[in-house]
Amino acid sequence: MKLIIHGGFFTESHANLETKIAKQQALSAIVTKGYEYLKAHTAVETCAYVVGLLEGNQLFNAGLGSQIQSDGRVRMSASLMDGASGRFSGVINIENVENPVLVAVKLLDKEDRVLSGEGALRFARNNGFGYYDPIIPQRQEEFDAKRNQQENKGTVGCVALDADGNIAAATSTGGKGFEMPCRVSDSATIAGNFANRFAGISCTGVGEDIVSAGVAVKIATRVSDGFSLKEATEKTFKELKEIDGFAGAVAISSTGEVYHLDSHPHMVWASFDGTLQVFP
Ligand code: ASP
Repeated sequence: MKLIIHGGFFTESHANLETKIAKQQALSAIVTKGYEYLKAHTAVETCAYVVGLLEGNQLFNAGLGSQIQSDGRVRMSASLMDGASGRFSGVINIENVENPVLVAVKLLDKEDRVLSGEGALRFARNNGFGYYDPIIPQRQEEFDAKRNQQENKGTVGCVALDADGNIAAATSTGGKGFEMPCRVSDSATIAGNFANRFAGISCTGVGEDIVSAGVAVKIATRVSDGFSLKEATEKTFKELKEIDGFAGAVAISSTGEVYHLDSHPHMVWASFDGTLQVFP
């Protein structure tokens, strides 16, 4: 069993040691708790559980504490992919729910599995997800000050390999911050989140770059075709560099390889497989 998670990018890491330590502690606690959960649950259940915990932590840009779009509203995106069944589900630009990833869970066994905006919200409400305001005072202050938040990347993601050898991946985001209303993130696409029988990948970074380079699905395809996870990830990031792309990824392969890579320092991540590792 293996588990790796990320909390997006942390570009102010040098400026703010306190937040860096808080993120290290939060990721360490969540990955450790997630691994305990993985002992009795499937990879897909674990990814949903772990991303739900990350969404609930306002240190990260997903769920509570999400970035605000340029019209002052928070629209969140999340997805889940079960490598065993090949099913992908997600919500794009959903508003006012506490855990977008749990709405994605509800969609996983449906015929229509990716919903956006109003339709996603209606589906959530019909399935018992109540009203929730994800805006925290700090985000509101940043928004009011019209601070360019593009530096504050902090999407969340999780990849798990369970005891049966199945892989899943989940990713959740509040987006880039100050983007055009209804701009679509990579996080609920196969570029930002993908799993099959061979590998699972969750990405963070500039969604447009991640989509242009098809990062997650490309890494998984390369692993399916015989590349090691490290080779597949490095080759994909080399291609990302050709378009001057900004991204990070966490990944696990069915052979138990756990790998993470970022085009620009510093993605914040943690992994657990009996031993805890956390970003330095
Ligand atoms: N990938 C996310 C997006 O472009 C942002 C992030 O990862 O920080 O919406």
